[in-house]
Amino acid sequence: MCLETKKVVSSHLYPAALYVNCRSANDASPVRMGDGVVMQTDRQMQDYLLCEECEDILNRGGEKWTNPKLARLNKTFPLYEILVKGPTGHADETGGIYFASSNPEIDVEKMTHFALGIFWKASVYSWKANERNPMIQLGPYGDLIRLWLRGERAFPEGVCLSVLVARPEQALIVLNGPSATSLRGWHAFLLNVPGVSFILNVGRHMDPEMILTCFHESPQHPVFVSDEIMGLVWKRFVEQFLESRKTKSYLAAKAKRSPIGKPEVK
Ligand SMILES: [Zn+2]
Repeated sequence: MCLETKKVVSSHLYPAALYVNCRSANDASPVRMGDGVVMQTDRQMQDYLLCEECEDILNRGGEKWTNPKLARLNKTFPLYEILVKGPTGHADETGGIYFASSNPEIDVEKMTHFALGIFWKASVYSWKANERNPMIQLGPYGDLIRLWLRGERAFPEGVCLSVLVARPEQALIVLNGPSATSLRGWHAFLLNVPGVSFILNVGRHMDPEMILTCFHESPQHPVFVSDEIMGLVWKRFVEQFLESRKTKSYLAAKAKRSPIGKPEVK
């Protein structure tokens, strides 16, 4: 991230602390989705990528603030609680818009840094054995984001980050993405962390109205709570879950170990 030749340390695509959040009470492993594989896994996406100083920039820049506020398996979701304490911009039965500008408990810089750190790490490395291409292609925006993460330039033009928060009862406890989603005229990437979906839009031809949705650049710093969008994320999750052969064999193996209907004896 500093472009210097230095000793590198073990880096994670998703902050390592999140794996603890995702672990359930009976110590099952976190759920990761993507590549058509949805299963409980212990395989943390990690490799030797960044130097200690750059890891520290990501940690202090956003991970430390954001990690403990994400949703957990026990249905607690500190970020949501903070959000609904503040005034609502607009709300109906399917969701609402909350403005971080009128909620001093939300640190816009830190939350943006958290998300862009993961998007950037995905744009420079595959995070997958036997794959050389980076997970996502950010083109010239990758380096602009890198410089912003390091505090060496202002937030780049042509970059828009939307933040969608689930209600605690709907929060999906997953680490997924970033993956490219198709949009006309510009590029969009989706990242899901427990309870929150981030959509990163980049491109010169982005709809100018998109900037109104940008958590960082819109003066109101909007956060969207939408049951409908979360419903779509759930739907995709379930579809991937059912389609995944690895999931099926995992479930079959698990069923063998603890037959349904027969309580586990401890
Ligand atoms: Zn570095």
